[in-house]
Amino acid sequence: MSTSLRFKSVEEARSRKAVAVELPKERPEAYYAKQVFNRQKMFEYLPKETFEVLIDAIDNKKPLPREVADSVAQGMKRWAIDNGARHYTHWFHPLTDGTAEKHDAFIEHDGKGGVVEKFNGKLLVQQEPDASSFPNGGIRNTFEARGYSAWDISSPAFILDGTLCIPTIFISYTGESLDYKTPLLRALNSVDVAGTRVARLFDPSVNHVISYLGWEQEYFLVDEALYAARPDLVMTGRTLMGHESAKNQQLEDHYFGSIPSRVEAFMLDLELECHKLGIPAKTRHNEVAPNQFELAPIFEEANLANDHNLLLMSLMAEVARKHNFRVLLHEKPFGGVNGSGKHNNWSLGTDKGRLLFAPGKTHKENLQFIAFVANVMAAVNRHNALLKASIITAGNAHRLGANEAPPAIISMFLGSQLSELLDKIEKTDIKTLNLAGKEGLKLDVVQIPEIMVDNTDRNRTSPFAFTGNRFEFRAVGSSANCASALIALNAAVADQLNMFAEAVEKAIADGADTEAAILEEVKKLIISSKAIHFDGNGYSEAWKKEAAERGLDTESSAPLMYDAYLRPESVAMFDRTGVFNLLELEARNEVKWEMYTKKVQIEARVLGDLAINHILPAATRYQSVLLDNVYKIKELFSAEKMDKIAGQDLNSIEQMADHMSIIRTEVEKMVDARRKANKITSEREKAIAYHDTVVPCMEKLRYHIDKLELMVDNETWPLPKYRELLFVR
Ligand code: ADP
Ligand code: MG
Repeated sequence: MSTSLRFKSVEEARSRKAVAVELPKERPEAYYAKQVFNRQKMFEYLPKETFEVLIDAIDNKKPLPREVADSVAQGMKRWAIDNGARHYTHWFHPLTDGTAEKHDAFIEHDGKGGVVEKFNGKLLVQQEPDASSFPNGGIRNTFEARGYSAWDISSPAFILDGTLCIPTIFISYTGESLDYKTPLLRALNSVDVAGTRVARLFDPSVNHVISYLGWEQEYFLVDEALYAARPDLVMTGRTLMGHESAKNQQLEDHYFGSIPSRVEAFMLDLELECHKLGIPAKTRHNEVAPNQFELAPIFEEANLANDHNLLLMSLMAEVARKHNFRVLLHEKPFGGVNGSGKHNNWSLGTDKGRLLFAPGKTHKENLQFIAFVANVMAAVNRHNALLKASIITAGNAHRLGANEAPPAIISMFLGSQLSELLDKIEKTDIKTLNLAGKEGLKLDVVQIPEIMVDNTDRNRTSPFAFTGNRFEFRAVGSSANCASALIALNAAVADQLNMFAEAVEKAIADGADTEAAILEEVKKLIISSKAIHFDGNGYSEAWKKEAAERGLDTESSAPLMYDAYLRPESVAMFDRTGVFNLLELEARNEVKWEMYTKKVQIEARVLGDLAINHILPAATRYQSVLLDNVYKIKELFSAEKMDKIAGQDLNSIEQMADHMSIIRTEVEKMVDARRKANKITSEREKAIAYHDTVVPCMEKLRYHIDKLELMVDNETWPLPKYRELLFVR
C-alpha cells in the first residue's frame, strides 16, 4: 500500500459519510430571518416614533437624524444582545474579493472596575477602518484622506457568529467611493430616477423604479483531504495542472441528476443558515460538470440581493468545512470541464408592482414593455465593451475569451418572438400598430403575451439573454461581487432612459402625440442597436468574425478590456449619472490592473514551485525506474532483442526527457518574464506584461506537465488527479 499524500487523501475522502444535519422542528416561516433586524424586529425593539422615522428614511431615501440614530442603536443593541451577540462590526465590500469587517465588543468601562455593554448612534452610523489596508488605487495618496464606513439603512443588520453586522458603504473623507456598495447605490438611484421618468409616460402615478437581482451561484465542491493535497487549489483556488480524466461531462449525466448524499447534507445545512439570515434560497441542483452545483434564491431588490450573495459566499465556505468539503468559487477550477458563473437575472419594476421587461395585456402595457426593452438594447449596444470590462477578472478570463472558452463578446439574445416583434415595429407604419395582447390580432402583430410562454428557444450560449420578464447577464463570474456588473448595467441603462425621455418629452412639447412620440423613438433605438442583437451560437468561431464586423468589442486581453472604463463615452456616462467621477474611475482601474497582476503572479509562483519541486522529481523517479529496467534487460538479452523488449521504455525515457527539459526552460522563462514585468511601474503596463509574457509560459508548462501525467506511473504521481478530485465524494 502506498503511503503517498495523494493516496492517503483519496482514502480519507472515500471513507467519509454524510454529516448529519439537524433540521429545526419548526417550519421555515418560524426561523426565517431570525438573525436579521428586519422591520418586524424594528417594530418590536424601537420606540414607535423612532420606528416611523426610520421606515420613512428607508422608504424615501432620507437621511436619518442623529437623535433617531441613537434610539435605533439602543433598540438594535438590545435585540442583538437578546440573540447572543457580543460584538458588532461595520460590514462592507472593499475592492478585493469578498467582505471586510473589524469586530468590536460592546463592552466599555463602567468606572467601577467592571464593564457595561454599550452602543450608540455614532458607532452605528459611522466607523473609521484604516483605509490604507484596502486597495484604493491611489485615492488615499492623492488626498491623504482617511476612509470611513457609513450605515446603509436600506440593508438590514444581521447577526453572524455572535457578531452584529451592520451593512455599510466605505468612502474617503473627500467622498470618493472605496468600495462596491457606494457606486451600486448611486447607480440604483440613477436608474430609479431615469426609469421613473420614462415609466410616468405610461403611468403618472409611478413614484419609483426598482432594480431587481436574482443571482444563480454556481460552485464546485472538493473533498477537504484532496484539496489539502493540491497546493494549487489551496493557494490559487484553481488547479494549475491536471490531465482530463477519461470521463468528465461528456455523458451529460450530472446536470439535474440526483444529488449525492454528502452534498445534499451540505446543501440542507447551507439553506438552513441562509434562511435564518433572511436569504431566500430556493433552488438547488447539480450543474453540468461533475461535482458542480448551483444555488439560487428568490430575486430581491438589487442592493439587498447583492448583500445576500456576498453573505452567501462566506457562509458557503464556512458550512462546507463542517461537511469536510472545500467550496471552489473560482471561475475555472478545472481545465477541460465547464467553468462556474453567476448569472445575474436583472429586471426593473415600478413601485406599483409592474415588471417593466414583462409583456402585459393592453396596448399601453406592451408599448411600455417594448420601450424598456429597446432602451436596454441601446444601452448594452453602446456600452458593450464597458459591460465586458465590468465582469472580467483574471479568473473569469478563463471562462471567457481564453482557451476552450467562449469568445469574450457581449451580445444580446432576444428569442424568436421578441425579435419578430421588433422587426415588425421597425418595418410597419407606426400609426397602424396595435400592440394589444388578446385583442391585438387584428393588425397581424405578434401576440406579445406569448413571449412569456416561450421557453423553448433559450439560448445558453448568449452572455446577455432576454428570458421572459428579465434579462440574464450570464457573463458574470462565480466569485464576483455582482455590484461590478450591476453598476455598469444600471448606470448605462439609466443614461439611455434619460436620453429617451428627453427625446420623447421634446417631441410631445413640439405637439406630437405621446404614443407616437414613444414609438418613433423606440423605432430609432431598434434600428441603431441592431449590432448587439444575436440569437445564434455565441460559442462559434464564425461569430467572433461577425461580431468584429458589426463593430462589437472583441478584445480578449483582460488588462486591455479595462480600458473601456476610461473611454470618453464611459467617463461621460458615469459623470452624467453621478455614479463615478474620473478620479474614481482611474483609481478603480489601477486596482483592477493590480489585482490582475497579483493573481497571475501568485499562480505563476505556485506553478513554478509545483513544476520544479513536485512534478520533475516524480518524473525523474519514474524515469530512473525505466532506466533501471533497460539496464537489466540489456544484461539478460542479446543486442538484437533489445529493441523489441526495451524499445518502448527507451522511447518513454526520451519523451519524458523532452518534456522535462521544456518544463525546466519554461520555468526559467516564466521567472524571467516576471522579473521583467515587476520592474514596470505603470500598473496597466505591468498587467499587460503579465498577460502577454507570463500567462503563455504557464499555458505551455501546463501542457507538458499534463503530458507527463499520462506517462508517469500512477503510484508515483504526487498530486490527486482530476478523476479523484471530481469523482470522489
Ligand atoms: P434558470 O437556471 O433556468 O435560469 P433559475 O430558477 O435557476 O433559472 O434562476 C432564475 C433566477 O431568476 C432566480 O433567482 C429567480 O428568482 C430570478 N428571477 C426570476 N424572475 C426575475 C425577475 N423578474 N427579475 C430578477 N430576477 C428574477
Ligand atoms: Mg439562469
